[in-house]
Amino acid sequence: MFNTILLAYDGSDHAQNALKTAAGLAKTHGAALHLVHTPQIDTPHIVIGAFVSQIEHPPTADQIEEAGKHITDKAVSEAKAEGVEVTEVHISNDSPAPFILATAEKTGADLIVLGRRGLGAVGALALGSVSQAVAHSAKCACLTVV
Ligand code: ATP
Ligand code: MG
Repeated sequence: MFNTILLAYDGSDHAQNALKTAAGLAKTHGAALHLVHTPQIDTPHIVIGAFVSQIEHPPTADQIEEAGKHITDKAVSEAKAEGVEVTEVHISNDSPAPFILATAEKTGADLIVLGRRGLGAVGALALGSVSQAVAHSAKCACLTVV
């Protein structure tokens, strides 16, 4: 039923749940699994760096990119542990939702899997802004994992 699944991963526990679901679906459907990540300033490794160095040394673009790479490497090995090889990793410093949507079109994804909330999690019930924007504009099925 699904041929190409796109997992949007931000390194949060919610995205971790989405990874397990996406990997399970990829196995069941024999689908390719693509991974998309846009490293943001609130990426955990960056938060630690920014906290330590405070205002004097905000993270550089290279540091943000490095933290993003670290996160996607982790996701790729976790998918492997679930028995799935990630077909391709798509990484960019664009805004998350537009890049997730563009990557879905580029890869011909027929399913996008995301967490309900992400790194900015505050409330347990509401949808995060990325989940909302992707669900609103996606041209394929979209699964929001709790
Ligand atoms: P907000 O960002 O609006 O404060 P939030 O962080 O709790 O809220 P979202 O950002 O909407 O919630 O995250 C929901 C899901 O969207 C995540 O679990 C992840 O699957 C995906 N996502 C969010 N940010 C990114 C990102 N930078 N790169 C890839 N996927 C992302
Ligand atoms: Mg977020």
